Amino acid sequence: MKKRYLMTPGPTPIPAEVALQMAEPIIHHRTPQFQKIFKEVLENLRRLFQTKNDILLFASSGTGAMEAVVANLLSPGDKVIVVKGGKFGERWAEICLTYGLKVIAIDVQWGKAVEPVRIEEALDKTIKAVFTTLCETSTGTLNDIQSIGEIVKKSEAVLVVDAISGLAADELQTDSWNVDVVVGGSQKGLMLPPGLSFVSVSERAWNLVENKSPSYYFNFKKYKAALPKPDTPFTPAISLIIGLRESLRLIEEEGLRNVFLRHQQLAAATRAGVQEIGLELFSQRPSNALTAVKAPAGINSSKLVSVMRDKFKVWIADGQGELKGKIFRIAHLGYMERFDVIIALSGLEMALQEMGYKLELGKAVGRAEGVLGG
Ligand SMILES: *Cc1c(COP(=O)(O)O)cnc(C)c1O
Repeated sequence: MKKRYLMTPGPTPIPAEVALQMAEPIIHHRTPQFQKIFKEVLENLRRLFQTKNDILLFASSGTGAMEAVVANLLSPGDKVIVVKGGKFGERWAEICLTYGLKVIAIDVQWGKAVEPVRIEEALDKTIKAVFTTLCETSTGTLNDIQSIGEIVKKSEAVLVVDAISGLAADELQTDSWNVDVVVGGSQKGLMLPPGLSFVSVSERAWNLVENKSPSYYFNFKKYKAALPKPDTPFTPAISLIIGLRESLRLIEEEGLRNVFLRHQQLAAATRAGVQEIGLELFSQRPSNALTAVKAPAGINSSKLVSVMRDKFKVWIADGQGELKGKIFRIAHLGYMERFDVIIALSGLEMALQEMGYKLELGKAVGRAEGVLGG
C-alpha cells in the first residue's frame, strides 16, 4: 500500500486539483493561451508576495534563484552582510563567497532569530546588500523581517530575503516592510512539486542589476524584457506554471489572511502536542511553517525519522548539518489541515513508544485536539 503522509518542510503534499491540472496535455508557451495563464500567475504571485514589484520565474529549485540574485546584483569584491544561524543562512554565505564577495557574517546561535540591532551595528556605507531568511528551515526559526526592513531601508544596502519555506505560511509584506528582493520556491507553501523558483525585485534592487557578474540563463534583464508580454526568455516549466495557477487560485479562494491563520493554528497545536509529552522545542522563535523539536535523551532523531517513515508511513525530517540526529522537524506547511497535525503527532507518539521513550499514548494528540477544536 502506497498511502503515506508527507510532513517534511519541502517537498510538501500536492492538492488533487493541482495535480490534475499538471496532468493536462502540454501546450506550447509562445501562444496567447499560455500568455493568459502566465499573466494570471504573475498577478496572483504579486498578491501573495504583497508587492507591486516585478516577479521573475525560473525553472530551478530555490537555490537556483538564490544564486541568480547574487550573480545579478553584485560583483566580486562587493561587501555584503549575511545572517547565518542555520543551513540556509549559511547557503547565502557560500553562494556569496563563490561569487567573490566580501562577506560580513552575523553568526546567530542555531535556533535563535537574529537580533535586528546586530544588522544595524554591522551596516555602513560600503555594504551593498543584506542577506537573510524569513523562516530558517533547518531550525524552524522565524526572523523579524519587518524590523530588519526598518533598519536596512535607512542605509544604501538592499535587503534580500530567502522566503522559500516561509512564503504562504508566515506573514511577509514585501513592499510595506521594505524588502527589496524576495526568493520563493514551488515545493513548500505553494503546494507544488519542486522545480520552480521566484524572485521579486524592487526598483532599488534593479539599480544594482547592471552588467554584474556574468550570467546567461539566470540573467535578470532578459527575464524583465520578456515580462510585458508576458513571456520568459527560455522555455518555462509549463506544467508547473499551470499547476501554480491552480495553487494560487486555491490560496486566493481561501484568502491570504486565512492561509496565515490556518498555519498559525497548526503550528500552535503541534507545539502544544509535542510539549505535552515532555519534548522540548528547538526554536526560540518558531515559524508557522514547521516545528523543530529536540530529540529526547537516548533517542536519535535520524532513527526516529526512519521508524516513523518505514513503520508508520509518516514522513518527517531529521535535523540538518550539525543538528542531524539531534532534532526532528514536522512541517505543517502548504496543503495541510487540522487532521494532518493529528496524524503527525500520533505517528510520533507511536514511534517514540516503539523506541522505548516513556509516554502515555494519545496525550500529544489530545492536547492538539484541544487547540484545534477552537
Ligand atoms: C527549501 C529551502 C531552500 C531551497 O532549497 P532547494 O532545495 O534549492 O529548493 C532554500 N532556503 C530555505 C529556507 C528552504 O527552506
